[in-house]
Amino acid sequence: MTGIEPFDAIDVIRGKRDGGTVPEPALRWMVDAYTRGYVSDAQMASFAMAIFQRGMERSEIQVLTDAMIASGERMNFDGLGKKTVDKHSTGGVGDKITLPLAPLVASFGVAVPQLSGRGLGHTGGTLDKLESIPGWRAALSNEEMFAQMRGDVGAVICAAGSGLAPADKKLYALRDVTGTVEAIPLIASSIMSKKIAEGTDALVLDVKFGSGAFMQDIDRARELAQTMVALGTDSGVATTALLTDMNVPLGLAIGNANEVRESVEILAGGGPADVRELTVALAREMLALAGHPDADVEAALDDGRAMDAWKAMIRAQDGDPDAPLPTARETHVVTAETDGVVTRMDALPFGIAAWRLGAGRARAEDEVVHAAGIDLHAKPGDRVTAGQPLFTLSAEDDARFARALEAVDRAWEIGDTAPEIGPLVRDRITA
Ligand code: URA
Repeated sequence: MTGIEPFDAIDVIRGKRDGGTVPEPALRWMVDAYTRGYVSDAQMASFAMAIFQRGMERSEIQVLTDAMIASGERMNFDGLGKKTVDKHSTGGVGDKITLPLAPLVASFGVAVPQLSGRGLGHTGGTLDKLESIPGWRAALSNEEMFAQMRGDVGAVICAAGSGLAPADKKLYALRDVTGTVEAIPLIASSIMSKKIAEGTDALVLDVKFGSGAFMQDIDRARELAQTMVALGTDSGVATTALLTDMNVPLGLAIGNANEVRESVEILAGGGPADVRELTVALAREMLALAGHPDADVEAALDDGRAMDAWKAMIRAQDGDPDAPLPTARETHVVTAETDGVVTRMDALPFGIAAWRLGAGRARAEDEVVHAAGIDLHAKPGDRVTAGQPLFTLSAEDDARFARALEAVDRAWEIGDTAPEIGPLVRDRITA
């Protein structure tokens, strides 16, 4: 590396370590120098930990976000002739909402550019789920993406190219292995840099709280939501957020192929009530931001319009929406030991169990097993009798069941009194 650098990483790290505000030029330099490889992983990890411990002012988060956007390309959908609106979820267990949501919203003539990722750890990835569909292709060129959104299909769910916010890509991988993921300034700038660089006109955030979410605590989740809404709005992206409960897995399917199956049920007007409720709530928010505040979202699920949009979207990416989805070689059913009511089912252990069954990956280069996962047969509030199936584990190899069962060992309970179940959508955050 040649040339004279205008700052020293050690000074920037010390400044944040001691609770100071990092001046804008130094922060921009730090991100740029890290992307170039001048600032080392060790230095950036130390800086991320200092941010984790000391936090950041809103103005610093704004600069950090902007610097990450500036590290790569910015997409532009101005020539589409349609409004674009995207959704981002901070991730949870059984969260397949993107699958029915994108075609549902597109069925109202709005373009949905849903750049998605693969799962790492217990939260699944949208692309992994869709890759259960025979032939479906995640990698699209910018031209293909543009054409799919401009034409009749309208919705596209595909892999984010490596050109968007490369600084975040590098930093996120580093945070993942240095215990610095759960910091509000780092999460907010990471998510929003990619969404702003993507060039969407509007964005709805599903910010989750609870045992299966990054933020266990609702107040921290609210702070994250407020920070992201402010970042989007200040950058000209109309942004709102819903705060939603992730203490219990969403729906009945946790995995990949089984989550596609459940999404198709939603698109056929059925499916679990919580998945439908959240799909409808997010679709309403997205369509309101896109200029359709009175869209009858439920009718589009019930009369087949959303299903038609789904099939068109899957076919446009070489998938066969009518092909059978993979099923697992081995299953193991867990039954209720007593009569009673399910009082608890913790999202995180079920997410970990599904991951151990093969539905998720431990390292970025691992393959997921599309047919692996968990199907719940009862949820908190449901009455069960002794011997009734509670959930089924699916895997390619029955040797995987023991560790999955270990994960869920104390994750559910049957008692006498029905639990109080709060609303799924707890709050709505606007600018
Ligand atoms: N998702 C992201 O893209 N970044 C984070 O920091 C957390 C979740």
